[in-house]
Amino acid sequence: MNGAILMADVAWLVLSGLNKSHTRASAAFDKQGGYGAYTVKDCLERGGIETDFCSPSTAKNYRVVLVPLVFTSGIADFLKAVIPHDDWQPGARSFKVVVGGFGVHNVYPYREYADAAVFGRCEEFIVDLVCNLLDGKQFQHKSVMNLPDIYPVEYGQASELYPHCVMLGNGKTFKETSIGCSRACLFCHYRWTRKHVGGLAYDMQQVSGAASVETTIWDVFDIWDRKKAKVRFGIDGNSERLRMAFGKPITNAMLVETIERISAEATCSPTVRPEIYTIGSYPTESEEDRNELGRVLSRCKCCGVPVKMMVQLTPFRPSLMTPSQWEAANVVYNWNLHAVTNIASVEGLEVYYRYSIEGPASLLEQMIFERASEGSDQIIKTVLFSPQYKRLKSREKVQALSATFNIAQYIQLYEIGDTLPTSYLSSYTENEKLEMAAKNLRVRLSGI
Ligand code: SF4
Repeated sequence: MNGAILMADVAWLVLSGLNKSHTRASAAFDKQGGYGAYTVKDCLERGGIETDFCSPSTAKNYRVVLVPLVFTSGIADFLKAVIPHDDWQPGARSFKVVVGGFGVHNVYPYREYADAAVFGRCEEFIVDLVCNLLDGKQFQHKSVMNLPDIYPVEYGQASELYPHCVMLGNGKTFKETSIGCSRACLFCHYRWTRKHVGGLAYDMQQVSGAASVETTIWDVFDIWDRKKAKVRFGIDGNSERLRMAFGKPITNAMLVETIERISAEATCSPTVRPEIYTIGSYPTESEEDRNELGRVLSRCKCCGVPVKMMVQLTPFRPSLMTPSQWEAANVVYNWNLHAVTNIASVEGLEVYYRYSIEGPASLLEQMIFERASEGSDQIIKTVLFSPQYKRLKSREKVQALSATFNIAQYIQLYEIGDTLPTSYLSSYTENEKLEMAAKNLRVRLSGI
């Protein structure tokens, strides 16, 4: 681009907040984009491309619109905003749309509403991609898919950390210290799609204004500021059996020791408030597995600062490109019934589930996006737009979708090695390795 500054040619799509007074223009973008998108923004600026923010209605004032897709909810929000919009209709768009971010793996749901999908890290080529689109050309790269065509692509990796400090929309700065994770939890999309580079196993920077840093149980005492009441880590399973099966080697004894040590070492008052993240509805999970967490935590002897602990549970989602991808999703068990339940209450320790837990319909909707194929457009439109559907309770939603559509493809157990809708994607982990890990997982789950 010969260093040319392109003002107002390229914009990031913001889905709300742009026109509200007292709302920072990028507030919604901060939420959906986070530091990944700000890193790309920084990269573009260093390449001479200034970016603006736009709404679905003002996108037509730009030539290239960048859309960060992070979670399934971000994909749903994007589609809800653009499917009804005249300017965004396939064939009628006056601008090119590039989707990227952690939520870009199954492109079927939005293949008609974007022109290019970027898979994985893109700092090496994002400037070239945008320049090509501005010149009216397609950009060919092994980690870019020119939509709506669907063909084999490779997940982009970084061989080193992003070297620059990035200024975020919330005024904080972000300096990348690690990518990926050296551990190998068998359900973790992050682990299996991002090659590990840099520091601790999983080292989330404190950039979002959150009160504490999320870490692993193995690193928690290296990172936790004892004066802070909040301390966060994942245990990812209510029973030792299921944690071990999914490659999360946290024993019950380790869990007790960690909570007791948190109480002993905290210097905050009046309570220390750990938040732990767990996963429920794993394949083969029994009532005994579910209740094991409470039984184990009741053994803790917290003799220091009283511990008030919140457990945030997410139902298991067989995530694409992981060894779990062929497993079934359980859209029957309703964990939401446990919300705010007291899990353990002993001297010095109280443990509760969080006030809201994802219900079966929410898991089914996520699985629809995860395993969507060419034939999924109608079920996606029902989930996104049907007023009757939206009025239903979680379980009723599952019943309504199963009565109208064949939902089996989204939730069923597959044979290991079966072709899934995202077979066009390859990562740094070869399929043979994924399949081997998947077989080991099944053996461990069956208890043989
Ligand atoms: S769940 Fe956490 S510890 Fe496990 S692989 Fe993923 S990032 Fe690492």
